[in-house]
Amino acid sequence: MSEHHLATLAVRAGQTRTHEGEHSEPIFTTSSYVFASAADAAARFDESVKGNIYSRFTNPTVRCFEERLAAMEGAASCVATGSGMAAILATCMTLMKAGDHIVCSDSVFGSTIALINRYLVKFGVEVTYVRPDDNDAWRRAIKSNTKLFFVETPSNPLSVIADIRGIADIAHERGVLFVVDNCFCTPALQKPFELGADLVIHSATKYLDGQGRCVGGAVLGSEQLVGKDIFGFLRTTGPSMSPFNAWVFLKGLETLELRMRAHSAAALQLARWLEGQPGVSKVYYSGLESHPQHALAKRQQSGFGGIIAFDVEHGRKGAWAFVDATQLLSITANLGDAKSTITHPSTTTHSRISPAERERAGIGEGLLRISVGLEDVRDIQTDLERGLAAVRAVAA
Ligand SMILES: *Cc1c(COP(=O)(O)O)cnc(C)c1O
Repeated sequence: MSEHHLATLAVRAGQTRTHEGEHSEPIFTTSSYVFASAADAAARFDESVKGNIYSRFTNPTVRCFEERLAAMEGAASCVATGSGMAAILATCMTLMKAGDHIVCSDSVFGSTIALINRYLVKFGVEVTYVRPDDNDAWRRAIKSNTKLFFVETPSNPLSVIADIRGIADIAHERGVLFVVDNCFCTPALQKPFELGADLVIHSATKYLDGQGRCVGGAVLGSEQLVGKDIFGFLRTTGPSMSPFNAWVFLKGLETLELRMRAHSAAALQLARWLEGQPGVSKVYYSGLESHPQHALAKRQQSGFGGIIAFDVEHGRKGAWAFVDATQLLSITANLGDAKSTITHPSTTTHSRISPAERERAGIGEGLLRISVGLEDVRDIQTDLERGLAAVRAVAA
């Protein structure tokens, strides 16, 4: 199917019809599989014959999701996981050992930092954090034991853009593997493998589902690293994806490109509008000409995505007044949903890091993040106007 374009792969790739001739993908709710004979069972266990054994290892619905996402990202192999964090855990546990060193962007998902600092470090892994947009910092951070580079771009919540091609070149000069968490753009807007990434991570919970229903994840890459090594970790340790969730994500992928275009168009319109509003001191969105890395974002992304952050006046008081004045937006930390959401990072998603770290990361008390959904953009804007009126009333 690889000769087809993304939207076609999103609808068609990975499906193998059963003898029933079903049109839509079936959900295989079975924990194990039967063998034709004792010899067949033995052959599947010694892997001389490929086939299903047990759903912790493989399941046809999950396989369909894996093959579809692999086709869309342009990867040789994909393994699905029970969550995005399970995908990151499986990657790190498989590819790193005691004494190895990871260089990680300092602007990644909070639980990714906790996974490294609380757990990997406990097993003797060293870590250095660097700014995602400082290529020299990535280069300087390399040591003789560096094994992995890990980045998320655009970053959450401030939309800092990492130069995927530049960082990949730095990694590869020294034999380091480069992992990109492509959750915010998805393959509809950004293709990290074409820019030199070795592995791509997804939280399927976000845009791949797109309607806020299920938790899941995936790792993509080469047949050796993913199809053999990371798959081996998963089949032994068990953070696998349920067939029902895989089916929901398959249906999500079918509309991914349409949704990402709609999220991006509405977000760009709202970001431009927000930039001129009294009460708003700064807007962070890589689609704006005022974004310091707008040119880079345009080069490596085919759209700017649905996440906008902005500072309002009067710090936490202003930000909370804004949140509480909205009527349509959901006050929730999730993102990538058809429903628009609003969150106050410094007291929610980023509340567990110290005030000094927040300050350094540029996450102020007046910062808000919205995930622009698929409602009519005029209604979202009207809701944001309610928020802004409440910010202005704080001063009065
Ligand atoms: C949500 C998220 C994760 C973690 O995914 P879960 O499915 O919640 O485990 C990882 N990376 C990014 C960028 C995310 O937004």
